[in-house]
Amino acid sequence: MSYQEEYQSALDNTEAYWAGQADRIAWYKKPETTLTKTDFGTYSWYADGELNSCYLAVDYHVENGRGEQVALYYDSPASDRKEAITYSQLQERVARFAGALKAKGVEKGDTVLIYMPMIPEAAVAMLACARLGAIHSVVFGGFAPAEMAVRINDASPKMILTASCGIEFEKKIAYKPLVDQAIELAEHKPSHTVVCQRDVLPAELNQARDLDWNAFQEGVEPAACVPVKGSDPLYILYTSGTTGQPKGIVRDNGGHAVALSYALNNVYGMKAGDVWWGASDIGWVVGHSFIVYGPLMGGCSAIFFEGKPIRNPDAGTFWRVIEEYGVNSMFCAPTAFRAIRKEDPEGDLSKNYDLSSLNWVFVAGEKLDSSTYSWLSELLKVPVIDHWWQTETGWPMTAPMMGWDNPSEARLGSTNKPIPGYDIRVLDDEGNEVDDGKPGNICVKLPMPPGVAWSIWNNNERYVSSYLDAFPGYYHTGDGGLKDTDGYVYITGRTDDVINVSGHRLSTGEMEEVVSAHPAVAECAVIGVNDQLKGQLPLGLIVLKAGVQIDEADLEAELVKMVREQVGALACFRTALVVERLPKTRSGKILRAVLRKIAAREEYKMPSTIDDESILPEITPLIEARSANG
Ligand code: AMP
Repeated sequence: MSYQEEYQSALDNTEAYWAGQADRIAWYKKPETTLTKTDFGTYSWYADGELNSCYLAVDYHVENGRGEQVALYYDSPASDRKEAITYSQLQERVARFAGALKAKGVEKGDTVLIYMPMIPEAAVAMLACARLGAIHSVVFGGFAPAEMAVRINDASPKMILTASCGIEFEKKIAYKPLVDQAIELAEHKPSHTVVCQRDVLPAELNQARDLDWNAFQEGVEPAACVPVKGSDPLYILYTSGTTGQPKGIVRDNGGHAVALSYALNNVYGMKAGDVWWGASDIGWVVGHSFIVYGPLMGGCSAIFFEGKPIRNPDAGTFWRVIEEYGVNSMFCAPTAFRAIRKEDPEGDLSKNYDLSSLNWVFVAGEKLDSSTYSWLSELLKVPVIDHWWQTETGWPMTAPMMGWDNPSEARLGSTNKPIPGYDIRVLDDEGNEVDDGKPGNICVKLPMPPGVAWSIWNNNERYVSSYLDAFPGYYHTGDGGLKDTDGYVYITGRTDDVINVSGHRLSTGEMEEVVSAHPAVAECAVIGVNDQLKGQLPLGLIVLKAGVQIDEADLEAELVKMVREQVGALACFRTALVVERLPKTRSGKILRAVLRKIAAREEYKMPSTIDDESILPEITPLIEARSANG
């Protein structure tokens, strides 16, 4: 079938299409019901089917002849450790750890908080929870105690699973004291903290509450997989939003397993036995879907990498990993490639490695600027594939189908076409569909396909008010953009990244695209600053490539000219400010909302997800000096 036929079939015969896809996975009891409307207006999938997500990711492969295949390649330049764990070994480790959790009273439906670095024990912990039908909530390692406490109170975990430390570049971060402080701050008190001791920085244990990772597993009976319903929750993941209280996105077991299996084969073009690298962290949705569950459910060998792209020892680390494990396909955020490019602008380090195993590279999470796209495509000589999704969806909404004979070709600036199951519409603020080529709010007509979160933990009303109220009958993604006449989707950014200059709605993303094409620019952010005359004016913050010598005034003049030529004089782009670094979340998103507040001299809450707070005092005076008329 062609893309068009397949897409149309999912649209016209939605239930039949996804009932067929349910056959991809090994259920204990096949679902009789495919789609159910919940009493608060969302849709769940495969509610009465019975399955176990850990069984599908681990035991199934052992039973089907993959026991000796490597399931996880742990590669940690951060701690100078490597490990190849086969599916049989993973099964043994997960069953034992699940047995230990069970012995301490963890049961189906209980919640468990996981606060761990990228060590294989973290994957074991997630899978062990799934094995028991318990619901894990992974909190990104390095979150401050206050943020962890908010999540402890919301998720009420029976236990916390952690490690003595994480490693960031060369710095060791003691996790255990952070967990202790979080428990201190929280009203809910978990019964135990299980601590995985790392040689590089062991933690002191509190005998009353803490359990040692190894001792706690001694002599326990390995646990079997517990069947759960398709609609039972597998995990809670708090969104990495820059404002407001975090939302506990709930992922179910049934829809998730079917969607990931579908995505791994069709979207990412992976087969059992292939080597896959999701270069992210288990604290984010990519880590859940495409470091742990997706590749393992698909019988791949997955890379579990603990390190940074430009360190240990240099900006050739990614290329080394690709060669060493024969990576067939990888997924990463563009920010990592921008960091590599900044250090090694000509990509010389890649020439030291054999990258011939690589078929293609997927990027998502933020806008892929054309300059990074061209650099990476030319360097690797494989397709660089932009695609788009969110924590809430759990798997891509737009992408070419690389597993099919004729994947849609790339189109510059587009994250490609909607994946079957996602009926993507572009609506104006009144909810009317706009013409092709016209910008608006990107929405998805309900029902959303399997795998997409359909509730928020303990707060269904918040799901409705966050995603469904704005445009009845549609899921509101919060992103702005357009569709062209061939159905390609273009994401311009969150709708609050749109600025209004003299009544013209302009995307700062579009201006960033122009600015980042300048040969001296490594990365940039364009934000709106208040202006008495025009409402808002754009301000560009520029990070230069390493070693570039350029007069700031000359650079500004060149950028102003470029934006005027490519976006138009109406953009009134007049100010470009060179800064050393930009503030980002731990997952690499530029904190534009904070930058806007700094420029507007407004109070802001330090985002819990910020990577390095010290950047803010560094850039605040610079921004204030250049937005003085605000
Ligand atoms: P998160 O839920 O934290 O992964 O963030 C999801 C948001 O990241 C989306 O709503 C988009 O605003 C942005 N995003 C994800 N992928 C892309 C992409 N390929 N291009 C542009 N923006 C993206």
